[in-house]
Amino acid sequence: MPYLEISSKNFSYNYQTILQKLAPKEPEKIAIVLKDNAYGHGILEVATLANKAKIQTAFVKNIQEALGIAPLFKDITILYPNSLLNAKDLENALKIPHLSFCVPSLESLQSYPENTNIALKIDSGMHRNGIAKEQLQEALTIIQARNLHLKGIFTHNGYGDDLSSAFYVQNMEFLEIKKEALRLCEHFKIPRPQFHSLSSSGAMRASVFNASLPRELQDDLFRIGIAFYGYNCSALNQPKLKPIASLYANKISSLKLKKGASIGYSGVSKTKGGSISSYDIGYGDGLFRLREGMEIYTAEGYRILPRASMDCISIESDAPKVCVFNDVSAFAKAFETIPYEILVHLHAYIPRVVV
Ligand SMILES: *Cc1c(COP(=O)(O)O)cnc(C)c1O
Repeated sequence: MPYLEISSKNFSYNYQTILQKLAPKEPEKIAIVLKDNAYGHGILEVATLANKAKIQTAFVKNIQEALGIAPLFKDITILYPNSLLNAKDLENALKIPHLSFCVPSLESLQSYPENTNIALKIDSGMHRNGIAKEQLQEALTIIQARNLHLKGIFTHNGYGDDLSSAFYVQNMEFLEIKKEALRLCEHFKIPRPQFHSLSSSGAMRASVFNASLPRELQDDLFRIGIAFYGYNCSALNQPKLKPIASLYANKISSLKLKKGASIGYSGVSKTKGGSISSYDIGYGDGLFRLREGMEIYTAEGYRILPRASMDCISIESDAPKVCVFNDVSAFAKAFETIPYEILVHLHAYIPRVVV
């Protein structure tokens, strides 16, 4: 059976690094993003580590994720409450006082009952989810009329990874949104909600700018995902982090082959001679499918031979167990994608073992 080992030591290291960089004296500003099964790492396992580290605020994808970790945090925001809708779960979630529902449109404001906690999403230039700044007044009118609790006003800066001025333009736009929100909250006598806009790379870039703003205009939270998992995906020089997940697979069978023997589908790999073994993880388990032309090695330095199969991979090794990766950067590079995508695909049924 394959398994994903989660390093509590690396998690703590990443948290300390994030905290020192972003808000050494204000740990309550660091929120952890646990959506999509904690980016494939196992939501309960990572939530438990976060709870031990006294992190109080979490962001999840859907209601089911929120219900699963509700006792471990003081505040949880559900980013996509409609993504896996189930009437009974919704009813249960609405009863939990520390859950908030992300609202990305005026129409969805109308769908929640009185007293629901909501986090209002505003578009600040990414042009993806959220209401326009010009709709803020209408949104607050509805919030007041329907007696909803406005817990947060937030946006997502989509340029944190890029060396371009668009990042700063979006930050300035959110600043204007915050000013307008404060003015409207005062008018409607709604308490100031929490403001937040930055994910890992953006927060690392803009925490100093944020701290330079008057207190009431500062972001109250940084929504940190990938940095907790140990990756820095930005073009900028940022603190070194340590990947927390290592994927292990166990041997299924072994053959001693002559030099030049071909292996697997269409025989695209030829051995140099020696032991070749198959191991129990494949693309059916969510590991991307290695194919001809790709050169990837296990953490021990054994070559993983293309093509990968649905339930197994062949490796130039006869070790009983191999570490398929302890850092997905090489996989991300080979597949021309980002670490997020490789990690998030690992099936939830692969056991997660925290060490
Ligand atoms: C995924 C997500 C984040 C976290 O992004 P990272 O780059 O992983 O830090 C923050 N905010 C929102 C709204 C997200 O969807």
